[in-house]
Amino acid sequence: MIDFSKIECTGCTACASICNREVIQMDKDEAGFPVPRIVDVDRCIECGLCEKVCPYLNPKLEIKNEDEIAIIAQIKDSEIRKESASGGMFSAIALTVLGKNGIVFGAAYDDDFKVRHISVEKADDLWKLRNSKYVQSDLGNTFIEVKNHLNSGRLVCFSGTPCQVEGLASFLQKAYDNLILVDLTCHGIGSPLIWDKYLELAKNYSPKRIYFRWKHYGYKYSTMSYFDENGKEVYFKDVESDKMLRAYFTNSCDREACYNCKFKKRYRISDFTLWDCFQPVFFASDFDDDKGTSSVLINSNKGRKLLDDIISKKIVKYLYISPSDIVYGNNEMVNSVVQSSIRNDLLMDAKQMNAADLFEKYFPDQFYNRFRRLLRMLLLKSGLYRQVKYVIYKNRRSRTNKQN
Ligand SMILES: Cc1cc2nc3c(=O)[nH]c(=O)nc-3n(C[C@H](O)[C@H](O)[C@H](O)COP(=O)(O)OP(=O)(O)OC[C@H]3O[C@@H](n4cnc5c(N)ncnc54)[C@H](O)[C@@H]3O)c2cc1C
Repeated sequence: MIDFSKIECTGCTACASICNREVIQMDKDEAGFPVPRIVDVDRCIECGLCEKVCPYLNPKLEIKNEDEIAIIAQIKDSEIRKESASGGMFSAIALTVLGKNGIVFGAAYDDDFKVRHISVEKADDLWKLRNSKYVQSDLGNTFIEVKNHLNSGRLVCFSGTPCQVEGLASFLQKAYDNLILVDLTCHGIGSPLIWDKYLELAKNYSPKRIYFRWKHYGYKYSTMSYFDENGKEVYFKDVESDKMLRAYFTNSCDREACYNCKFKKRYRISDFTLWDCFQPVFFASDFDDDKGTSSVLINSNKGRKLLDDIISKKIVKYLYISPSDIVYGNNEMVNSVVQSSIRNDLLMDAKQMNAADLFEKYFPDQFYNRFRRLLRMLLLKSGLYRQVKYVIYKNRRSRTNKQN
């Protein structure tokens, strides 16, 4: 059986899902992250399956992919693009899978805004999966459900973080022609406990929908936004002001394994890899409308075939880019985030402090944040925001590539 003390577990659920004697079950650690626990060692028959499917113990070889292709893309449906974190490419893939009587798995909120993987079979329900949730999603029995659908011959799309996607592939132990894997460039994954604390503050607004990445001021300056039951935006705060965004983007609440992520790779086992294209102007100025653009790597033949279907349905505006150009400067694709010095204290205090005091203690509204917010607003109002962002990204691209 796996010695969990020796692995940097991502909570992918592969070991618990494969164990049909229910020796291993998923539980939560103190920060709310899903973790496997041995519940009844006497039932273990030492079959070794848990070790065999653990993606940490059996890392997939990173093989240079000479056949990959890449595009930048925007879904043409403006409502879908608005709801999506970037250009809505995930929805284009999902709609195409549903159009073939397939089923799509991805991260959604439940009624209490806890983040869970669910399955969607109707296009009208796809909104639940849209937009990034910067909190670790509870996979529940997703891997087992995916396998059952695959074995019944149904087309399945699974979308998640790179560790979830490798976990699923490991769990399945064989390749399926009817499986489409979509992974993301992932910054890191936030603590469900910190999210729970944050929701204590959010509930004052009685939100019906919450978006981590709403394009309130445009794609290049997004906000955490809540909408009420009438669809009215009742809260919007940027990365300088919103406490959850601050916790996430200062790398203060990620899962421990994210600080040394084994699944951030240039070459992925997925069929599609998606991430933001904040500066489409590097490739084509007519994409730069500040409403969201996806960067897309198509890593497999299956992916290429599905892309052909998407293109033939004329639901996306797209442009082929060379793979090396599109990944140029994408630091989060290959490098782990650096753990903040406040992380462990924050997670410790979160267990006992009330939400308002906790966030005030760790993320007070200081001069630095107010200054940055003011600067952003001034640049936005003067129409210079885009240009300044362009210069910053251009520098970042060249800096990152000098380092790599
Ligand atoms: C946790 C996280 C970190 C990210 N970090 C970066 C980054 O550093 N740089 C970058 O360029 N892009 C990052 N992305 C990707 C980016 O935010 C968009 O998800 C991507 O561009 C696809 O956007 P879209 O418009 O096509 O679709 P959207 O509709 O925005 O994509 C939704 C998809 O994301 C999945 N998803 C959402 N939340 C979760 C979650 N908690 N766990 C697993 N899957 C989830 C859903 O299942 C769905 O498939 C991250 C995404 C997530 C979820």
